Amino acid sequence: MANQVTILGAGAVGICTALSLAERGVQVRLIDRSDPGQETSMGNAGVISPWSFIPQSMPGIWKKIPTLMFGDYRPLSVRPTYWPRMLPWGLAFLRNSTPKRVEEIADAMEPLCMPCVDLYRRHLEGTGKEYLVQDSAYVHAYRKDGNDLLQAIDYRIRKEKGAQLELVGQDELRRVEPALSPEFKSAVLIHGQARARSPGLIMAALAEKALSLGVEILRAPVTKLEQVERGWRITCGEKVLTARKVVVAMGAWSAELLKPLGISVPLASERGYHLEFPEAGIELSNSVLDSDAKFVASSMEGGLRVAGQAEFASVDAPRDDRKQKRMQAKAKAAFPDLQTGNPRFWMGRRPSFPDSLPMIGGFKGHDGLFAGFGHSHYGLMMAPRTGELLADMLTDRTPNMDCSAYSTGRF
Ligand SMILES: Cc1cc2nc3c(=O)[nH]c(=O)nc-3n(C[C@H](O)[C@H](O)[C@H](O)COP(=O)(O)OP(=O)(O)OC[C@H]3O[C@@H](n4cnc5c(N)ncnc54)[C@H](O)[C@@H]3O)c2cc1C
Repeated sequence: MANQVTILGAGAVGICTALSLAERGVQVRLIDRSDPGQETSMGNAGVISPWSFIPQSMPGIWKKIPTLMFGDYRPLSVRPTYWPRMLPWGLAFLRNSTPKRVEEIADAMEPLCMPCVDLYRRHLEGTGKEYLVQDSAYVHAYRKDGNDLLQAIDYRIRKEKGAQLELVGQDELRRVEPALSPEFKSAVLIHGQARARSPGLIMAALAEKALSLGVEILRAPVTKLEQVERGWRITCGEKVLTARKVVVAMGAWSAELLKPLGISVPLASERGYHLEFPEAGIELSNSVLDSDAKFVASSMEGGLRVAGQAEFASVDAPRDDRKQKRMQAKAKAAFPDLQTGNPRFWMGRRPSFPDSLPMIGGFKGHDGLFAGFGHSHYGLMMAPRTGELLADMLTDRTPNMDCSAYSTGRF
């Protein structure tokens, strides 16, 4: 089985990598403990944007932390027991917030984001689910007047890299998204992107396609990974499998699996939440960001989804149910006509490094072991290009771009 690759974790990254490898004729085994793509890759906000290459660590963010944690909207929280891990991660995050670092990180994120819409459309071809990726703008809505909005570094970088940005006032904003509260006085519309009508259904369709291309999908919990003489031994509960090449794509759970191999990575589980209103009574035509509450709202197959929050806590800590009430109140404030009956409340884990960049590539000294994790806030959109890069690396082709920013040894 010289050509066999085993991928641990069937989230967006694992599935897209499997598809790209299968297209190259590589035999692939994809292992997940649950249905493919139904963890973090299912519950996100569905933004698929070539232009979301702006890291989380923006200049001056440190000044905003008290408001983010204790102000009116509170999109940021840290569980008390997580502080010892939070402090070194947070300091590294702040070191990445200089204007120079932000530009460097944006340069590194750009090639991962840029082809996302085209690659999803290519992957979905022939599945009958092409309609699940819909053209969209990204509406960044503000409660303040927008005169100086486009001077901000994030919009400046987007513009320099070719994004079509449109600054609109209240009347035009009401025309674009009539359901938004008149509290919003201005918006920046980022044109030329797409949104997922259901990230979970997209993942299921892509997993089906992978099966049809010959990918073996195994449902089993991975409990141990060991290097053996000619490759890797993977323990999945009762089962023991071997592989020449292994990709770890277990999202926020990847770090724990690697620890016994002596590989330590500063991966945080940055948890996010969504509330989905099945009988919303309003429809949005775009992805809409409430720039104060820091949530993204989008109309999906299952209703109107409002997704956001950055909660730092250990990967297996229970979800914080108190957030539901707060999120619902903020959603209702942004969309006064929203019908909030029978909401579905969900929590997922973003796999986040302090520089907002993923790890993509091999581990030095661990022949045949590859990383495909750490996509933080951007994993839905970055997954297809990550899959292409990993497929190149695993078939000994040199990717046609510099991948050093994603190196597994950079911390
Ligand atoms: C609220 C929220 C909103 C977001 N919005 C967006 C957005 O709009 N656009 C965007 O691009 N990104 C968004 N993201 C980020 C994006 O969802 C993630 O970056 C992405 O889903 C990560 O994909 P992944 O494949 O790395 O991980 P996951 O989807 O978490 O997949 C990991 C897989 O590993 C499996 N696994 C874990 N442990 C084991 C084990 N021991 N054995 C076997 N299998 C295992 C899990 O079952 C899972 O299927 C958002 C995230 C959140 C939380």
